[in-house]
Amino acid sequence: KAKNPNEPEFIQAATEVLTSLEPVFEANPKYQENAILERITEPERVIMFRVPWVDDNGKVQVNRGFRVQFNSAIGPYKGGLRLHPSVNLGVIKFLGFEQIFKNSLTGLPIGGGKGGSDFDPKGKSDNEVMAFCQSFMTELCKHIGADTDVPAGDIGTGAREIGYMFGQYKRIRNVYEGVLTGKGLNWGGSLARTEATGYGLLYLTEEMLKCNGKDINGATVCISGAGNVAIYATQKATELGAKVVTLSDSTGWVYDAEGIDLDAVKEIKEVKRGRLSEYKNYRPNAEYHEGKFDWSVKCDVALPCATQNELNADDAKRLIANGCYAVAEGANMPTTLEATKLIQEAGLLFAPGKAANAGGVATSALEMSQNSQRLSWTFEEVDAKLKNIMVNIFHNIDNAAKKYGYEGNYVVGANIAGFEKVADSMIAQGVC
Ligand code: NDP
Repeated sequence: KAKNPNEPEFIQAATEVLTSLEPVFEANPKYQENAILERITEPERVIMFRVPWVDDNGKVQVNRGFRVQFNSAIGPYKGGLRLHPSVNLGVIKFLGFEQIFKNSLTGLPIGGGKGGSDFDPKGKSDNEVMAFCQSFMTELCKHIGADTDVPAGDIGTGAREIGYMFGQYKRIRNVYEGVLTGKGLNWGGSLARTEATGYGLLYLTEEMLKCNGKDINGATVCISGAGNVAIYATQKATELGAKVVTLSDSTGWVYDAEGIDLDAVKEIKEVKRGRLSEYKNYRPNAEYHEGKFDWSVKCDVALPCATQNELNADDAKRLIANGCYAVAEGANMPTTLEATKLIQEAGLLFAPGKAANAGGVATSALEMSQNSQRLSWTFEEVDAKLKNIMVNIFHNIDNAAKKYGYEGNYVVGANIAGFEKVADSMIAQGVC
């Protein structure tokens, strides 16, 4: 805390991980002897830079760019680029720190990193987004590469932004390589990457429910968010026989008792880049509420898929009172520490984001493999690999929790399972 006084999100994420690792440190003195705790909480490199660009009125705008290369013990840095006005160094450090353990859990050779900018793509023209992305990549391209650091999308960074950034990287560096993931299918992208985080969330949730005597088929599900993760989580949940009844965005939320109409949401969010308030135009019987989603709708399973700290203690109390029995995080750290504690103490199943949303980065790593091979796998091949990875992640975190006497505590399980591989690799590579 003394070292990072203005980084509450990073301190929150580090506190959660380090607290749950106490039994591992007690049982394995090598981690303390090698100062793993001190080393793993310090990024290997932080890059912060000016991003100047010219808007449609000819006015110069300036944003701040970030890339935190947190840990490369098990592979090149890998993690998304967030474009949102709330982005600052503490937010990117929290995301980069979480990414280390998430990437380790996938079982694939990828280290942890994260980046982004306080640029807000909302309301900007394509031309302005391109001007920003080109300026951002003009600096970032000096620090990344297919074997060094491979960024991806995140909040505010979708196919359009990745395209503009990839074009600029190629133009400056004169190499055609898999330096970004989430690319278009015509130019090196992987089938099923768009769907991967949402689908993966449901594969893990399905397995967690199955192993605890429940079934996603027939469950009523509340989802927050209306972006990439939320949309494909809704799609897979519906395919698996669940009924998704809510979605939200930063201005309001919808409740559709008959089940969310995904075609309408895709049209509003992916085609028009509009607001969920328009949902009622497609589904007159649905309810639209202004403001933050408060998790007041009765459900069996809750899947927060918008952003960090969106599910607080009061929200958790409402979920518990309404008989919800499982929460799985599609977003990164959407549940506050207090809410997580309440949910776990009330006996609900709880899958933390670093396990539950790892399907996105896992499929990004599969995109990297296809780029290296100069091959493209079919949708079914990628999807089957994704499912296998998510089921394995669930069993790994379940087993890690059991090994240290925390059966059913998947937060502890995920932190331990993600940590051990990275920490052992750091020790093997010496003091660096
Ligand atoms: P998108 O930008 O596609 O969607 C984000 C959604 O959350 C939008 O509906 C947005 O509303 C809403 N939202 C964003 N910020 C806020 C806020 N401060 N308050 C309320 N609502 C907000 O992002 P993704 O779906 O890609 O990402 C969602 C979460 O999942 C993030 O935490 C991300 O880090 C995480 N994640 C994403 C992965 C991926 O592959 N995409 C992989 C792993 C994790 P609005 O439309 O109004 O902006």
